[in-house]
Amino acid sequence: MLEVEGLVAGYGGTEVLHAVSLKVARGQSVCLIGANGAGKTTLLRTLAGLIRPTAGRIFFDGADITNLSTSARLSRGLALVPEGRRVFAPMTVEENLEMGAFRRLWPRRAQGVAGDRDMVFALFPRLAERRRQAAGLLSGGEQQMLAIGRALMGRPRLLLLDEPSMGLSPKVVQEIFATIRRLNAEGMSLLIAEQNASMALRSAAHGYVLAEGAVVRDGAGADLLHDDGVRAAYLGL
Ligand code: ATP
Repeated sequence: MLEVEGLVAGYGGTEVLHAVSLKVARGQSVCLIGANGAGKTTLLRTLAGLIRPTAGRIFFDGADITNLSTSARLSRGLALVPEGRRVFAPMTVEENLEMGAFRRLWPRRAQGVAGDRDMVFALFPRLAERRRQAAGLLSGGEQQMLAIGRALMGRPRLLLLDEPSMGLSPKVVQEIFATIRRLNAEGMSLLIAEQNASMALRSAAHGYVLAEGAVVRDGAGADLLHDDGVRAAYLGL
């Protein structure tokens, strides 16, 4: 579904990603682990079209999307849940979800938004209870749920998740990952960047290890979880 070949990207003159290649198959859950600063966020932002790569190619469903805008990628079914959630704080939960469907609402009011919102509420009942609250007043976990729900409103087929566990208690992390696994079981393809490597590897079929902007290992999630090198470097074991 997603194929990345030799991607080079960075900021200004600084190259952060050095020829990164990876794949996500349809319906697959893939994780990207690596230390702080390894380039996970840079990679996801480049895949979402927020950073222009200086070399390499990105294919989605066989089409070259390397030079497409973020909104054109969204239209094709590629959505990013950004690091730090970035919900619209003064807007209500419902309004945040509507913003996720904005591309579909404009220029003509599209069908199905209410139904999609109900789907998000079924997935995250806590959001339904707080539908008229300002997003900025939600807990960190609820904001993460809202950020995922907002992305789902765009009806993506591949979800890029940047550090969904960031700043959340272990119990809330379990809850978020249970929902992520459920989405995957229902057919959603996923690419998840995580510093919480053990949680990510346990939830993903395949994992890539990123270090200093390059892929240094990849393999089945279960294999990486039991690999001595990965355990020492990323699991603190
Ligand atoms: P984290 O978990 O902290 O987000 P990461 O693996 O996602 O880490 P990136 O955020 O992609 O890593 O950062 C990779 C490198 O790019 C780091 O050296 C970082 O300092 C640099 N970097 C990140 N954002 C910018 C920016 N806006 N301008 C310049 N350099 C940046």
